[in-house]
Amino acid sequence: MFDVIIAGCGPTGAMLAAELRLHDVRVLVLEKETEPVSFVRIVGLHVRSIELMEMRGLLERILERGRQRPAGGFFAAINTPAPEGLDSAHAYLLGIPQPVIVQLLEDHAIDLGALVRRGCAVVGFEQDDDGVTVELADGEQLRSRYLVGCDGGRSTVRKLLGVGFPGEPSRTETLMGEMQVGVPQEEIAARVAEVRETDNRLSIGPAGVGAYRVVVPAAGVSDRAEPPTLDDFKRQLHTIAGTDFGVHSPRWLSRFGDATRLAERYRVGRVLLAGDAAHIHPPIGGQGLNLGVQDAFNLGWKLAAQIRGWSPETLLDTYQAERHPVAEDVLDNTRAQMELLSTEPGPQAVRRLLTELMDFDVVNRHLIEKITAIGIRYDFGAGPDLLGRRLRDIDVKQGHLYGLLHRGRGLLLDRTERLTVGGWSDRVDYLGDPTAVLDVPCVLLRPDGHVAWIGDDQQDLDDHLSRWFGKPN
Ligand SMILES: Cc1cc2nc3c(=O)[nH]c(=O)nc-3n(C[C@H](O)[C@H](O)[C@H](O)COP(=O)(O)OP(=O)(O)OC[C@H]3O[C@@H](n4cnc5c(N)ncnc54)[C@H](O)[C@@H]3O)c2cc1C
Repeated sequence: MFDVIIAGCGPTGAMLAAELRLHDVRVLVLEKETEPVSFVRIVGLHVRSIELMEMRGLLERILERGRQRPAGGFFAAINTPAPEGLDSAHAYLLGIPQPVIVQLLEDHAIDLGALVRRGCAVVGFEQDDDGVTVELADGEQLRSRYLVGCDGGRSTVRKLLGVGFPGEPSRTETLMGEMQVGVPQEEIAARVAEVRETDNRLSIGPAGVGAYRVVVPAAGVSDRAEPPTLDDFKRQLHTIAGTDFGVHSPRWLSRFGDATRLAERYRVGRVLLAGDAAHIHPPIGGQGLNLGVQDAFNLGWKLAAQIRGWSPETLLDTYQAERHPVAEDVLDNTRAQMELLSTEPGPQAVRRLLTELMDFDVVNRHLIEKITAIGIRYDFGAGPDLLGRRLRDIDVKQGHLYGLLHRGRGLLLDRTERLTVGGWSDRVDYLGDPTAVLDVPCVLLRPDGHVAWIGDDQQDLDDHLSRWFGKPN
């Protein structure tokens, strides 16, 4: 009997497993692939995800393996630099291969005590009042109190759950792969630059020794599940660039579409959805992995609270209440970005106009805070603007704030040094620090770093501790 079974060991599943283990929850991750994925998708970790890594002590490991790039140029690839003074200690983009992130998060989860079983596809489940019986492809049955589907866009868990996944199907598809080329780099660069004057969907760039990463629009939308062939690439390069650049010897080939869909519900009883299993959208702006990892960060402590028995009644439902609107917003911004990539005259005119508008700091800042997810404000009711937002890392007496959040507990940061977390001290840490750089007296942080309360009154604080952390001991 496990507390939680997670279907899928992608970035979302691995992050969730680690978050649950911080609270001693017995976790089993079932991954259908026997080996980690071979194809290298370079993704960008955005500011908020980098902050999450810092909050769990993973930052150095992640930074070692990635490449820092300036923030900016995210929205529809409009090339405007980031505004000055983004509100974060990590105002950059970290380019990093997706398999590296997954491995790092999986190792982190295993170090914390999660069990990961590969070659185990979830094919069925049944839930009852006490738990969920999960069935694997070989007929084995496992039992847990909760099941979370982190099994990607084609999620088996979501389908079996019967949760609707409304939205738009793919209208276009893109081929992406790594391969060798038969012509000099300068020749490729010159031709690609020429094509991109009118069609910026083509890109060919170096990808390690002797290899190039080729991204080219596909001929149409394929219903084949298997990867494209080298001939598909050659044909499309000819169509778009007039030459196939002598491509040969592929390392890997893949395709992706621009379907945009959002699960109607994130929870049905004891079964929940997170990451691509709950939402899919085109990769423009590089938000999917970030969104999934942040889902896991939001869900982990709440599900742990439910299992440890201290959860307030409605806490688990705040997962959907908070994260569904965030995904809705991401889907919408990718829809808008896709329109702006169209080569039609109308969208091109809107793109030119938006490019002009992005010279206004307030527009540029709004869009970058949206894509990097540092602009998120959960609805915790009426209160100061900071309420519901994440608190940036700040200097505190004992070093820096995020360094105090590694254990995934709540934190009261008390500049008055008069308040106490009393009977919640097994779930919430206390830091009295009159030197903290804050323009409010005290803040209560949830384990995900969002501000749950601001004030200086003990009774009011106790009410909010109850709201987020249940009954005191
Ligand atoms: C070209 C491209 C570029 C991208 N660039 C970015 C970017 O820059 N930034 C960004 O944030 N995002 C980016 N994304 C999106 C990102 O890759 C996904 O959003 C991310 O992989 C989602 O993570 P996940 O863990 O939710 O799902 P997945 O990564 O799909 O992981 C799901 C896991 O579940 C397993 N699984 C599936 N079915 C079962 C089953 N029945 N039982 C057990 N296991 C199962 C799968 O094998 C897989 O390991 C990009 C996507 C593409 C296509």
